[in-house]
Amino acid sequence: MVHPIIELENTHIVQSYKRPPFVLVGGEGMTLYDNSGKAYDDWVAGIAVNALGYSDPGLTAEIQKAATGLIHTSNLYYTAPQAELATALCAKSFADRVFFTNSGTEANEGAIKFARKVAADSGVPGKTQIVHFSHAFHGRTMGSLALTPKEKYQKAFQPLMPDAVLAEFNDIASAEAAISAKTCAVFVEPVQGEGGIYDASPEFLATLRRLCDQYGAVLVFDEVQCGMGRTGDLWAHTQSGITPDIMTLAKPLAGGLPIGAILTTEAVASHIHPGDHGSTFAGNPFVTGVAKYVLDRISQPEFLAQVTETGEYLKDRLSEINSPLVKEVRGRGLMVGLELTKDVSSVVEAGYEQGLLMVSAGVNTIRFVPPLIATKQHVDRLVERLTTILAEQV
Ligand SMILES: *Cc1c(COP(=O)(O)O)cnc(C)c1O
Repeated sequence: MVHPIIELENTHIVQSYKRPPFVLVGGEGMTLYDNSGKAYDDWVAGIAVNALGYSDPGLTAEIQKAATGLIHTSNLYYTAPQAELATALCAKSFADRVFFTNSGTEANEGAIKFARKVAADSGVPGKTQIVHFSHAFHGRTMGSLALTPKEKYQKAFQPLMPDAVLAEFNDIASAEAAISAKTCAVFVEPVQGEGGIYDASPEFLATLRRLCDQYGAVLVFDEVQCGMGRTGDLWAHTQSGITPDIMTLAKPLAGGLPIGAILTTEAVASHIHPGDHGSTFAGNPFVTGVAKYVLDRISQPEFLAQVTETGEYLKDRLSEINSPLVKEVRGRGLMVGLELTKDVSSVVEAGYEQGLLMVSAGVNTIRFVPPLIATKQHVDRLVERLTTILAEQV
């Protein structure tokens, strides 16, 4: 018999997701529980969102506290939590100013508009092109979708935003050919997530910085997935020594509540005036109050050191798996890809049996983006179960 909730879902939800046949009812730490009481080690974390895991007592208390205060006022009025979160984000990054959004794609849409405004103010005619790269993922709405070069996502939705120019990721010559005086922005993920866990080389980021400076284009780092401690550094780009003009954030920023943010310099922000951009829900006191707590927790040096250490252990242990199906292990911190020699969907499916939640990136790569509280014991259990699954699938 089909579970009644699955029946309702199948009847009344737009069928844009294919879900496994269980209903999640609770969670604690790294573990999720389904309707039959079965436990799953969660290496997905709501797609790199639940950074503190499930039922974290501190996060729960913070949400309860925030819920007793103002929840929403709109951006027509001053409230404390939004200003305090922006101040903390600026103190911990290159940024001077922040614009809040409700999601990653909305942050990138805002970044597109900011860049177009800077270009419009420059007076350079036709400065409207936005350079993006192979395997990129910047979101599903019409602007960011134009910067997400995957045929399956784009094809049925033409025409997309015009003037999106595609170049090859990590290819300096390709970037040099694509970026010109007509470029208003360059969008790049310092570590590509959905596209397959690919690290941008420091030389590549340095080239983008140089070309953006040369042509007066805005350099946008999309850290929606790789930012906020995921790589073991608070921001994924810091190790490269290259600073963007805009960084977009979202997924883990409020520990599971919906939020996004555009962090930027005074030089860019000075082009944005009342009426140029807006969002009704964004930056509300409830979600920004909780995000401030999450940011404080994640940016503790001991917390980040633990992410680095567990991430290294994860890569080491995955590399030790002795299977002809394993092609490569790559990534940084707790953003790790395991590339196989075949489509990984059957492995993800076999994980459900074993009490393991995993998600793909691209076709042949399993992406491990667990709660940042994952431990070496969790890694050991993952590797044990994965070894069994892979042995069955040779
Ligand atoms: C998930 C993601 C987005 C889109 O975020 P949503 O909140 O789903 O709109 C954008 N960029 C990157 C790098 C992402 O991983």
